[in-house]
Amino acid sequence: MELPKEYDYNAIEEKWMDTWQDSMYYFDQNSQKPGFIIDTPPPYPTGNFHIGNALNWCYIDFVARYKRMRGYNVMFPEGWDCHGLPTEVKVEELHGITKSQVSREEFRRLCIELTTKNIERMRNSLRRLGFSIDWSNEYITMEPEYFGKTQRSFVQMYANGRIYQQNHPVNWCPRCETAIAFAEVEYDSRETVLNYLNFDELKIATTRPELLAACVAVAVNPDDERYRDFVNTEIKVPVFGHKVRVIADKSVDPAFGTGVVMICTFGDKQDVRWWVDHGLPLRRALDKTGKMTAIAGKYAGMSTEECKKTIIEDMKIAGTLYRQEKLDQNVGLCWRCKTPIEILSERQWFVRIISDEILNTANEVAWVPDYMKVRLENWTGTMEWDWCISRQRIFATPIPAWYCTKCGRAKVAKEEWLPLDPTQVQPPEPCECGFSGFKGEEDVLDTWMDSSISALHVCGWLSNRNLLLPAQLRPQGYDIIRTWAFYTILRSKALLNIKPWETILLNGMVLGEDGHKMSKSRNNFVVPEEVIKKHGADAFRQWAAIGGTTGSDIIFSWKDVVAGSRFLQKLWSIFRFSLPHLSDEPAPFTPVDLWLLSKLNRLVKDATEKMDAYQFDETFKAIRGFAWEILADNYIELAKSRLYGEGKGKKAAQYTLFITMETLTRLLAPFLPYFSEEVHSYLNQGSVHLQAWPEVDGSLINEEAEAMGEQIKEIAAAIRRYKSGNGIALNAPLNGIELYSSITDASDIAGAANTEIRLKTGTPDIEVVPVEIRPNMKNLGKTYRSKARPIAEAFKDVDPVPAGSENIEIEVEGEVLTIDPSCFTVIKEMHVKGKAVDILAVGNATIVISR
Ligand SMILES: [Zn+2]
Ligand SMILES: [Zn+2]
Repeated sequence: MELPKEYDYNAIEEKWMDTWQDSMYYFDQNSQKPGFIIDTPPPYPTGNFHIGNALNWCYIDFVARYKRMRGYNVMFPEGWDCHGLPTEVKVEELHGITKSQVSREEFRRLCIELTTKNIERMRNSLRRLGFSIDWSNEYITMEPEYFGKTQRSFVQMYANGRIYQQNHPVNWCPRCETAIAFAEVEYDSRETVLNYLNFDELKIATTRPELLAACVAVAVNPDDERYRDFVNTEIKVPVFGHKVRVIADKSVDPAFGTGVVMICTFGDKQDVRWWVDHGLPLRRALDKTGKMTAIAGKYAGMSTEECKKTIIEDMKIAGTLYRQEKLDQNVGLCWRCKTPIEILSERQWFVRIISDEILNTANEVAWVPDYMKVRLENWTGTMEWDWCISRQRIFATPIPAWYCTKCGRAKVAKEEWLPLDPTQVQPPEPCECGFSGFKGEEDVLDTWMDSSISALHVCGWLSNRNLLLPAQLRPQGYDIIRTWAFYTILRSKALLNIKPWETILLNGMVLGEDGHKMSKSRNNFVVPEEVIKKHGADAFRQWAAIGGTTGSDIIFSWKDVVAGSRFLQKLWSIFRFSLPHLSDEPAPFTPVDLWLLSKLNRLVKDATEKMDAYQFDETFKAIRGFAWEILADNYIELAKSRLYGEGKGKKAAQYTLFITMETLTRLLAPFLPYFSEEVHSYLNQGSVHLQAWPEVDGSLINEEAEAMGEQIKEIAAAIRRYKSGNGIALNAPLNGIELYSSITDASDIAGAANTEIRLKTGTPDIEVVPVEIRPNMKNLGKTYRSKARPIAEAFKDVDPVPAGSENIEIEVEGEVLTIDPSCFTVIKEMHVKGKAVDILAVGNATIVISR
């Protein structure tokens, strides 16, 4: 069978994509094999599977395919994390509406419609990239089957005291009009102005004069002599005139501003701390849309910006503001819209964070790479208050609770009532007070409440299957350690008191070719589809494999992709050459075969260890090096003559090549699913992806065989260099070669040199024979002038052997001259058994080439 010269990745990849059955990758609930469940990240259905996702999925697929071949019952599920703000914003954009212009049900319907369409598009990308996803375990968080579990998790955690409702300050985005969690606050440095105010008898400096109406205290450091007499007195707030207490607190920095700070509800997190520690009253100066409230008097209804501008002008005129200076400040922004956040006290639902529990559980999980655990440790304990899980939005899992319209009590649903939307249905039983009128909770859950039970869901929690928690692997980006990893550990412990996974595998971020974060504005943005179109999925996957070590950021590189497609072509050429020569019939191996098989088994051993350690780059580089250098450049070159010939070594070479190609195909299967399947289809029945990972045959790993093979390889290379150095065509035969070495089978050297080789032991008897006296014209000319030429002529008649390198006596034109050795060179030849030869030394072998 003649294979086409060019590897047509497009036709081959599409052929297999259409041939493969989904059921090949189904997790088998009844299997006796050890399970390997992967808690795949559910991507956000934006419609585009971005390159960072693609990198992560490549890692997951390498592991899934490898583990399957190692005999595990693998689950590689695909989830979709549907809910949340980005979809709402997109729907508003697409339909030119705001969420309040249509009914909640209609708005939800539009969100579901968009999400469904986007998921379908992304499924196609996943298939095209060749991921071995278990589609029978797909989950979509907006579907009742999933969000019903989110609701049940809420109910269970409410019952065990891990969820509670409270009026408490929370981070608030005035543009999105919702509470957000600490993990959703991004920080950015901005320049602001520090305003110095005459504050009754004191002077204070503040960056937020617009919150003066919300001032509830003034604080000084207890050790600050300047203000000792003011502690516990009351002073009057400028502009608004209400009185506040002066309190002493060690955390006030006497060196900042005037050493006196104004405490507002709430300018920042520090205000919240003081407010709690000193039991201060609450004054709400901002509403949920970021507008000033009635207590702001004449400023009511203004935005914070407007209020700030106006009140500063007013205070300047009144002489209250006496100085301003610039100040750099870290400002918290909404992750979604980058609006500066405010801190508002609202009734919200919270999940209790128990830091020790999270840290202890993190220690029970293996982190790959291990240094990533520090990120979780650093984050844990930085939050000022518990996880706020209620959101004032629409497209999310409804909080299953109602409020009694008579007594106001909150009623949380029972598990058996779920799933439900409390704005659509009433509870089937009355309130504790006996009344049966309820208002459904309109707040919805933080979308991390859905995704943080992904591990529980895929492991069979709340299903009729066995609970298989912990999952074996959580693959994810390091950018969501403080959210997804943190919340999943928290929830798994709170609900089932068990760690969610055995191992967490972190991937880095993908940077553009210029080394910067990919963005459309930088023009360094690449989508996986574009890469696949130009070079195919297998080339893309090679970039993912070798782009960097797991956990490190990796730069997207077209060069790596192109190198990947070249390697595919190289592999294809190797296979195309090999195919007519393959035979699965065993035959006695030659030293070169044993050398290759030893290297091959070493590769299998190495690749297995590296795959177990999630070192994809190292594994792939080792396989590539073997295929390219050892197999193609050396073995095939050496064994070619046997393969084309009819000698006894032919069968051994055919069998060796078969074993090697077949093993290589299985080693490549996790990385290059399409290519390996194509090659495998010529070698064996069934899919390569249902075969076992190669086993190491330890009896074939043999250092002596390797040393022998290396020597043969080097001898063949030395002869090749000899030919090209002497202007002899590489395939031209030499007059004869004698090889003095411990090599017992030189058939491949003979084949490569196209010359008969006589094997000898010991060392050759080399005679060095002077054969010619060659004049050194420069020195001859200097000394003998016009006689130089006749002298040179006369050298031809001198017997070089006795002449040696002494002075030569020579008769020229009747005159006897004594010629100094600086005037000639004695040319010597090497002779073995009286014949002229060239000698090449390779290690302890000597190659004698007849001239
Ligand atoms: Zn926002
Ligand atoms: Zn009631």
